[in-house]
Amino acid sequence: MAVQPYDPENIFAKILRGEIPCTKVYEDDHVLAFNDIAPQAPTHVLVIPKGSYTSYDDFALNASDAEIVAYTRAIGKISKEAGVVEDGYRLIANTREHGRQDVPHLHVHILGGEKLPRMLP
Ligand code: IMP
Repeated sequence: MAVQPYDPENIFAKILRGEIPCTKVYEDDHVLAFNDIAPQAPTHVLVIPKGSYTSYDDFALNASDAEIVAYTRAIGKISKEAGVVEDGYRLIANTREHGRQDVPHLHVHILGGEKLPRMLP
């Protein structure tokens, strides 16, 4: 299946435009992070770039170095501020259909606050 163009009506684009509320945990020039509306762990934060990138590969291949540094650094800062670094946590970037990505704007899930179930045998 071909990669779809960015859909400006996806829910995270609406959050970025302030059309839908979110529980913000972090923001800078390039990045917004907020709590997942249906948390799968005691800590469940979604970190999104402000740029219009559909997926991890779209971002990694097309974003500027400044955006990539800001995004990577923000994920580190948010994880630390959430208090999950010492005991450990999981980062997930579900990608398109086979990766079960529901919202077509890049987001990394930060999950932690408890011992998570194994994902792979
Ligand atoms: P995906 O399956 O990796 O695309 O994850 C999408 C995530 O977005 C899910 O964990 C949803 O619970 C979450 N989500 C959907 N709508 C909202 C919202 O309005 N605010 C915060 N999280 C949302």
